[in-house]
Amino acid sequence: MENKLTCNQVVALMSFYVEDKLNSRLKEYVDEHLRHCPKCREVYMQSKKIVSHILSLTDYEDETNPYYTKQYEDFKNNLSAYIDNELNENESIRIKKIAISNPLARKDLEDMYTFKKLLHSSFEKTRTEWKNDYSKLIINKLSKNPEKIQIDPFYKLIGAFTALISIIVFGFLATLYF
Ligand SMILES: [Zn+2]
Repeated sequence: MENKLTCNQVVALMSFYVEDKLNSRLKEYVDEHLRHCPKCREVYMQSKKIVSHILSLTDYEDETNPYYTKQYEDFKNNLSAYIDNELNENESIRIKKIAISNPLARKDLEDMYTFKKLLHSSFEKTRTEWKNDYSKLIINKLSKNPEKIQIDPFYKLIGAFTALISIIVFGFLATLYF
């Protein structure tokens, strides 16, 4: 395969890959990398496990668990906002208190942190826009070849333009000196 992804690139794309949000070509590159890289395959397995666990959290709602309280529901509704620092100080303290007193909540919070850490292990920034930018960068890098072909006519145009200018300037000089 001509375009090989590095481990860092694969890890950066992992969240998109797990959620099946990559285009088919990029998905193929990740597939290919995972076939040959046990390290990234491990990251993939863990990500997948945690994602399916988080998706199954909503299935807890059988209310047989004594910790499945109104408070826990409140916690769940605010968890992702809490993780992303989108709550004000009071709300944030409230969520923290629930996490301390309720084992279900604490488990969810730990899972969520593990999840985030795993997905962004090689990178400082976690913002979605940044992730998108990074993916675009990789996509751009991978489609370098088609870009080169597009640049060609541009150079031709520049060449033609330069020639035209030269002829005009030369013609002008010629009228002055001859
Ligand atoms: Zn790898």
